[in-house]
Amino acid sequence: MTVPTRKLEVACPVCGSTEVFYTCTPNCCFNHVCSGCGSTFEPVTTKAGGMRTGVLSPDPLPEASDPTVACAKCDATTVYMMEDKFLVCASCGSVLALEITEIARG
Ligand SMILES: [Zn+2]
Ligand SMILES: [Zn+2]
Repeated sequence: MTVPTRKLEVACPVCGSTEVFYTCTPNCCFNHVCSGCGSTFEPVTTKAGGMRTGVLSPDPLPEASDPTVACAKCDATTVYMMEDKFLVCASCGSVLALEITEIARG
């Protein structure tokens, strides 16, 4: 059994645009900016319960400016989206839910 995934997609909490870019690096912060309205925010994950095995990384892999979030369990940034819209960590297999924090309207 394998679990196909695709790149993480994060919608702007202010205007709903998915034209959202990651502007920092994982060893600093998870500040993202929306190209639609200029708002900034930080996505975080919480454990949704459950584990998956055989998680496949998306192909192609996300780029550095694509939305990025850390796993609530193991801190890896290999967090991708499953077909049911839940997130899964390709490193430890935890099923995760997305939350948006630190919202600053643009
Ligand atoms: Zn926006
Ligand atoms: Zn993990």
